[in-house]
Amino acid sequence: MSLRTQSVLCLTLLLSLPVQAFGPHGHQTVGGIADQLLAGSTTAKKVRAILGSNLQMAAVWADCAKGVGQAKVGTPFVYDGSGPYPECTYYENPASQKAMEDFVRRNATHCYANSSDEVCRHKSYHYTDVAIQRDHYAKDLAGTSDHDLISAMQACITVLQGGRSPAPFQIASKKEALRLLAHYLGDVHQPLHVVSIYLDAAGHAVDPDAAAGLDPKTSTKGGNTLLLGASKLHGLWDSIPGSLATELLAGAGVASARAVPASAGELALWPTTWATDTVMSSKPALAGLSFGPKAANGSWPATAAAGYSKERVALQKQQIIKAGARLAELLRAIWP
Ligand SMILES: [Zn+2]
Repeated sequence: MSLRTQSVLCLTLLLSLPVQAFGPHGHQTVGGIADQLLAGSTTAKKVRAILGSNLQMAAVWADCAKGVGQAKVGTPFVYDGSGPYPECTYYENPASQKAMEDFVRRNATHCYANSSDEVCRHKSYHYTDVAIQRDHYAKDLAGTSDHDLISAMQACITVLQGGRSPAPFQIASKKEALRLLAHYLGDVHQPLHVVSIYLDAAGHAVDPDAAAGLDPKTSTKGGNTLLLGASKLHGLWDSIPGSLATELLAGAGVASARAVPASAGELALWPTTWATDTVMSSKPALAGLSFGPKAANGSWPATAAAGYSKERVALQKQQIIKAGARLAELLRAIWP
């Protein structure tokens, strides 16, 4: 199949699904923009040789791997995610399912229904929770960890540069590292995967980095316990309009991505730099809201000012363009 036919098919798929999660379509758009930026380069050849696919396809692998679980502690890790995620059908064959199962087994203590991200550890690789009061990402801040998104990106870069996977990450190959990195570049640009608001029972913002320390009861779990109407705030920010994905993949994304400034400093520090950029650019995602008291089910009701959803789409577009540009920039730096 020619590349051109592939992209027409992808566009058709996107057009047929008007609203989908940042999950698949946000990530695929990030990967697709990077594919277009790298087209014809030696970097692109290296990427294709390692992945056996393009970045657009690889960018959803880390989410598809969330379909791996255990019936209960001590039972085998099995991929059972088929069905609800059409973008994962590409990986629903025996060899690919085994690859996802192997990855989760290495990167989880247990992973049964409702097990926390601390024990089903690979799920925590997708985010960090820097408080909205901060102006940068740093590893000593509340909400960050040695197995958060930024640490995960750094581990992937180490493996792609030929190093050993640093603990606690168990990344087995460059193929696995590249699949993960293609996804994590999207996550580090999704505002609610990086910036968090911590609330007391009355719905007032608290500072988890203050002397009293982080009270777990104040965590809003990346916006998963903040409800805007009936919708989880996290889900709203994961969702991008299908029309936006189509517009960006049809050429507008690559054109804008060429204007994204180059990342400064050492390559190993870029994940921290990008997380800081998201902290600073994405505060309106939470600052534009007010919150009511915590409900018995552990959620807080949120109220948005007029124009919030329009601003959301504008910020999502900006972040996806940056993510695509930076994924290409990073891979070019690793394989010039
Ligand atoms: Zn993710």
